[in-house]
Amino acid sequence: MEQSPLTRVIRTRTDLTNEMEHSGPLFLTSSFCFDNAEDMRAAFADETDDNIYSRFSNPNVQEFVDRICILEGAAAGFATASGMSAVFASLMALLKQGDHVLSCNAVFGSTHSLLTKILPRYGIEFSYINTTNTSSWEAAVRANTKMLYLETPTNPGLDIVDLEFAGNFTRKHGILLNVDNCFATPIGQRPIDYGADLVVHSATKWIDGQGRVLGGVVVGKKNLIDEIYAFCRSTGPALSPFNAWILSKSLETLDVRMERHCSNALYIAQQLENHPRISSLKYPFLPSHPQYEIARKQMKNGGGIVCFDLKGGLEAGKTFLDKLKTLSLTANLGDTRSIASHPASTTHAKLSDAERQEVDITPGLIRISVGLEHRDDILQDILQALDA
Ligand SMILES: *Cc1c(COP(=O)(O)O)cnc(C)c1O
Repeated sequence: MEQSPLTRVIRTRTDLTNEMEHSGPLFLTSSFCFDNAEDMRAAFADETDDNIYSRFSNPNVQEFVDRICILEGAAAGFATASGMSAVFASLMALLKQGDHVLSCNAVFGSTHSLLTKILPRYGIEFSYINTTNTSSWEAAVRANTKMLYLETPTNPGLDIVDLEFAGNFTRKHGILLNVDNCFATPIGQRPIDYGADLVVHSATKWIDGQGRVLGGVVVGKKNLIDEIYAFCRSTGPALSPFNAWILSKSLETLDVRMERHCSNALYIAQQLENHPRISSLKYPFLPSHPQYEIARKQMKNGGGIVCFDLKGGLEAGKTFLDKLKTLSLTANLGDTRSIASHPASTTHAKLSDAERQEVDITPGLIRISVGLEHRDDILQDILQALDA
């Protein structure tokens, strides 16, 4: 019987030494030695998979990639220094001047900048499609459309995109499906099971899970990863071995951490749903979520993020943050420590009201990244800040 992914992730080890450390050693080296000229020639000719230089590959980085591939059900992958370098590589390595990308309208802020400001300078066009109105997607496809890029659940609105629909849609049109799976993590959902060609992650979030390091990874079909590898080998967004070592260790506890993050988040969502100061609350596994049925179909849990809209808009949002005593005010998410953020005054402050409306960010929207503290301590802090 084949071992479960959980066991394989925990037991997978990449090791060049014959040492007996139980925890994988750290290969903090920029390059690797060869015994002779012929071995070195063969490595450079891609006849072996010997490590040459840590911009190309490194045992700690490979261990992290191997483990993510097990969790996502992917054939191959490449790890990068941040989530954004993974997103960038997954687009730039596969697209060229004259190509067109479809993207759901609610994407991470820097991904939005990449699509709207950077890629157009290289002649790569994009169109936004409505995340939840899938019947409108058909009309957006052009002869030069090469990729559909999406996030689900979206940040910070927690909209759910139907991955089964997206997989059938991209297959029918012969375009690539590229999914940012950062919010769900591979524990919560596996886009490749629905036909995704590529999956990208910011490992900085739930995968590290302890707010320590930046990292990113792109996994998917071998032929696509080969192109992404060639692009990254020459452009240099490599993940540091130390960060890879941290992230690889983190994967050993991802399953058990997500179980608690998600049960805490569901509890917080249930307790706050009918609070008089809250006009609406979203959590993918509450029946009140507009895409609840889709969430139940494609996700194993509802994730660790809860969003709600405060009555009183922008000022109410800032007051709420100021009154919190336990939750952190910080730009990260996916930490052991619960975090509150107010997109309208921070991450999305530069957008116009109309642009914010388009991605469902209301002035009073609060995003809670639910941590691993006792669920009642998290709830009490939120309740006292709401009442203040
Ligand atoms: C944070 C984030 C990114 C970018 O990741 P970094 O590691 O900060 O570069 C991309 N996508 C989503 C959904 C994110 O939350």
